Amino acid sequence: MKTETTIQGLSASLQSARAARKTIGFVPTMGNLHQGHLNLVREAKKLCDVVVVSIFVNPIQFGEGEDFESYPRTLEQDSHLLADVGCDIIFAPTVDQMYGKQPRLTNISVGGITQDLCGQSRPGHFDGVAVVVTKLFNIVQPHFAFFGQKDYQQLAVIRQLVKDLNMPIEIIGVPIARDTDGLALSSRNGYLTQEQRQTAPVIFQSLKQAEKDLHAGVALSEVLQNIKAQLSDAGLVVDYVEARQPDLQPINVFDHDLVLFIAAKLGNTRLIDNLQIQLKT
Ligand code: AMP
Repeated sequence: MKTETTIQGLSASLQSARAARKTIGFVPTMGNLHQGHLNLVREAKKLCDVVVVSIFVNPIQFGEGEDFESYPRTLEQDSHLLADVGCDIIFAPTVDQMYGKQPRLTNISVGGITQDLCGQSRPGHFDGVAVVVTKLFNIVQPHFAFFGQKDYQQLAVIRQLVKDLNMPIEIIGVPIARDTDGLALSSRNGYLTQEQRQTAPVIFQSLKQAEKDLHAGVALSEVLQNIKAQLSDAGLVVDYVEARQPDLQPINVFDHDLVLFIAAKLGNTRLIDNLQIQLKT
């Protein structure tokens, strides 16, 4: 496995793979890797000859007062984990390498689906994601790129971006990896105190309870209220609890498949999760 920190170095490393028409798979991450990230790499290994994983904490997708500075940077540990799952190339550029010293004059804004859910409380976040992912796609030029369903809205934004701009890349969504108690794995879980970590599984528990209730015929509005109450009672501060159709269109009644979304703060840590719920036929 190679680690490249410059765009030139990465291009040189990929040259022979491109010449041999090998399939290139790409997994963009911000590092501090866990099994959720590694599952993306495992999926990439199944479909592709060469797998590139980027590790880059992207400053422009963090809002003011968010955790850009404190975001965990653990490149050495990440490298060991990636070697074990067969990653071929790590691309770990500096901020300077990605954004240079000149001001950036181009923005990429995916409309509609970025306006609410996480877009509402994190203005500019999805523009920052769209810009960095586009840059990384142009740098790596992969055939396939892998994203987690943990960031469901982000995955939808990337699919839209690729479709709208005719990027010749197939986007693969990978299911959420969870800890044994149901908590969705996240680099931000490391911010939690021991006590908060014991509380956090209430997020997944409330989603599973909601699934049961919906299948038992409880009204969707009541189910959403129950989730909010469960989270508040456990000491979380709810950002949003919402139900959407799988394409993120609004839904008011459980009359077709839906996705439940939660964003909530536990202390200073913002956690997100979602659960896809199928209408039983
Ligand atoms: P991040 O490093 O948080 O930017 O995440 C990089 C990629 O890993 C994104 O596509 C995430 O959706 C994905 N990811 C993060 N956590 C999980 C998880 N628990 N399960 C599946 N994918 C995940």
